[in-house]
Amino acid sequence: MIIYLDGNYVDEADAKVSVFDHGLLYGDGVFEGIRIYGGNIFRLDEHLERLEYSAKALMLKLPWSRAEIAAATCETCRKNKLADGYIRLVVTRGVGDLGLSPWLCPKPSIFIIASKIALYLAEHYTAGLSIVTVATRRINSAALPPAVKSLNYLNNILAKIEARQAGALEAIMLNDQGYVAECTGDNIFIVHKGALITPAASQGALKGITRSSIIDIAKELGIPLQEADLTRYEIWNADECFLTGTAAEVIPVVKLDGREIGAAKPGPVTHRVLEAFRRRVLVEGTRI
Ligand code: PMP
Repeated sequence: MIIYLDGNYVDEADAKVSVFDHGLLYGDGVFEGIRIYGGNIFRLDEHLERLEYSAKALMLKLPWSRAEIAAATCETCRKNKLADGYIRLVVTRGVGDLGLSPWLCPKPSIFIIASKIALYLAEHYTAGLSIVTVATRRINSAALPPAVKSLNYLNNILAKIEARQAGALEAIMLNDQGYVAECTGDNIFIVHKGALITPAASQGALKGITRSSIIDIAKELGIPLQEADLTRYEIWNADECFLTGTAAEVIPVVKLDGREIGAAKPGPVTHRVLEAFRRRVLVEGTRI
């Protein structure tokens, strides 16, 4: 596999970063997970805009233009002959000393991996997931805005571990106020009386690119959509539920904490949205 690393295309065996990189020492950096479908990179510009916003929030000045990063992303896919897969784009604060100070890291690093990802089995998409609510709360935005897609994912990893301990593959994370924020790596939607409802980003959700594409799809299909505060009560009483994320795509949820949601199987609105999403990813995107 060929990796893009700081301006060079190198073999994965040679794609090495320093032990003094603050991305490794402190999780100081930002990243994107991006999909490519049939040679089209899905919503590349939106991903790169979110990367810029995440970096700006950390006062990490990107020394590359959006066009340069886009070109490197496309070229990494071409070099790996990747037409369908998953791209991981990482920017670290770069090499510094053993203190926290980011201003002692003069040069950020960038690397791009063009590979594959499969979070769930096919049967999880057809039968739907059983998920749980975990005690680990989504980090307060006064501590670290969840909209920042940073290299520090320990909050989500703790929640993921809790989910696994409970025998589930995904978990709902509540915010400090007890409202549903999102899952460990996905946004959440419910369907109630034919309308889609998802928590606002202000409740602690990442502004997911898949989420925003589902919002566009809902408009196109004439499905009412609302951003609203959700508690577990709304999920218990939902007709349908699904999660969205670049890696997971759109995956139905049929049980929360052992309680059946709606008819306990992927519902008609989820199917409509999922089919529209599958059609859209094939035509929308940046041709590599
Ligand atoms: N929430 C979190 C915490 C995530 O890490 C992700 C991305 N894996 C998402 C939501 C979904 O965002 P996107 O659709 O942009 O992948």
